[in-house]
Amino acid sequence: MSEIESSLFATALTQFNRGADLIGLSHDLRQILSQPKNEIIVNFPVKMDDGRFEVFTGYRIQHNNVLGPYKGGVRFSPMVNLDEVKALASWMTWKSALCDIPFGGAKGGISFDPHLCSGEELERVVRRFTHSLGGNIGPDYDIPAPDLGSNSQTMVWMMDTYANSTGSSERQNVKRVVTGKTLETGGSHGREKATGQGVVFCLQHWADEVGFDLSSATVALQGWGNVGSATGRILQVHGAKVLAVSDHAGSIADEDGIDAFDLTDWVQEHGSVKGYPNADEIEPSDLWSMDVDILIPAALENQINVDNANDIRAKVVVEAANGPTTLEAERILSKKNVDILPDILVNAGGVIVSYFEWLQNRSAQRWDLDDVDYRLREILWSAADSVVALREDLGASSRRDAAYAVALQRLKTVYNQRGIFP
Ligand code: NAD
Repeated sequence: MSEIESSLFATALTQFNRGADLIGLSHDLRQILSQPKNEIIVNFPVKMDDGRFEVFTGYRIQHNNVLGPYKGGVRFSPMVNLDEVKALASWMTWKSALCDIPFGGAKGGISFDPHLCSGEELERVVRRFTHSLGGNIGPDYDIPAPDLGSNSQTMVWMMDTYANSTGSSERQNVKRVVTGKTLETGGSHGREKATGQGVVFCLQHWADEVGFDLSSATVALQGWGNVGSATGRILQVHGAKVLAVSDHAGSIADEDGIDAFDLTDWVQEHGSVKGYPNADEIEPSDLWSMDVDILIPAALENQINVDNANDIRAKVVVEAANGPTTLEAERILSKKNVDILPDILVNAGGVIVSYFEWLQNRSAQRWDLDDVDYRLREILWSAADSVVALREDLGASSRRDAAYAVALQRLKTVYNQRGIFP
């Protein structure tokens, strides 16, 4: 089995154990935190436009809820499988703990390609999935959000389906069963760009720490979806230049810089960066060896691996995607002194603003964008400060190990105080 074909959950466990070693986590707690609490698999039929019924397989993995309700996105992709969703769910637990927000970790998904469905089919798939999950999700129990292949419209369908399956007097109280909704249906200002905004806040923290000037930085990005495009646009506003972008269908580069706003309009219209007229087409593999300061994987897992890690010339790899760097690639990058800003810190902006949305729904309030951004930056900078401090205290070899140590320390304290029932 090649490195990339090996289990993503095994990678997640190796990362977890490294953090656990650093803080001397007990065998008992390692056992508890090494497995999800609940693994829910649903097979549900959906009527397609041509009258056929198709059976879809959906997952909801609830990793841990000792710090608060299960929380995490739902992913729509043909590659969704149990192993992947387990890894993603565990990363949500560490992310919430690291950022000290009162949520646990979960993840869900449906194994299908949403691009191959009509809008009506997609709506029926989402509603039927939500109905199949039934009481396994809930506004104070397990709260889904968007992820790869899903978006704010998906969340509105989930919320509406859940609300309509609830008693009429309760319907107004259950909006917060999902986050990442449209603004009009109870979403938060700043949620759409939250993950990208968080990536930039973390980069600013790093730049401050190592003495790097972000305003003249050059950047290459994989993925121009929700996370990648928001990151690119915000970095451009801060003066950085996006030199190369790739996605599922194409790869482009321009040494003078690609206009992130213009590219976003193009992708919205054409579905991909492919064919973008104001840049040159490149081979997808060329993205990794671009002569840039900052490399940002913002698409899928295992993208930085033994096949390309040696070619990377960037100073820093910023893990906007979940799990984009394999264990072997991380070793190679570490030898080359390439800094890695780990996913559980860098892409936590999404879950943090989801928490803000949940709080606003609970109290029937609406915070303005400046307020959301200010609070987001406070939480992320505080988490990044803790990572830097604990790394030094414990002599951790990487930022990832230190980030796990911060998260696990919080979970350990709560478990020790609460004990294990009965
Ligand atoms: P998205 O569906 O909006 O965009 C995904 C992007 O990845 C698209 O540009 C797509 O073309 C590209 N892509 C897909 N397959 C590819 C391939 N084989 N090669 C190259 N590019 C490919 O998804 P998103 O919400 O931006 O999520 C991207 C990553 O960020 C995922 O790892 C997700 O788990 C992570 N993430 C998302 C959020 C969020 O709030 N949406 C929060 C935290 C982490």
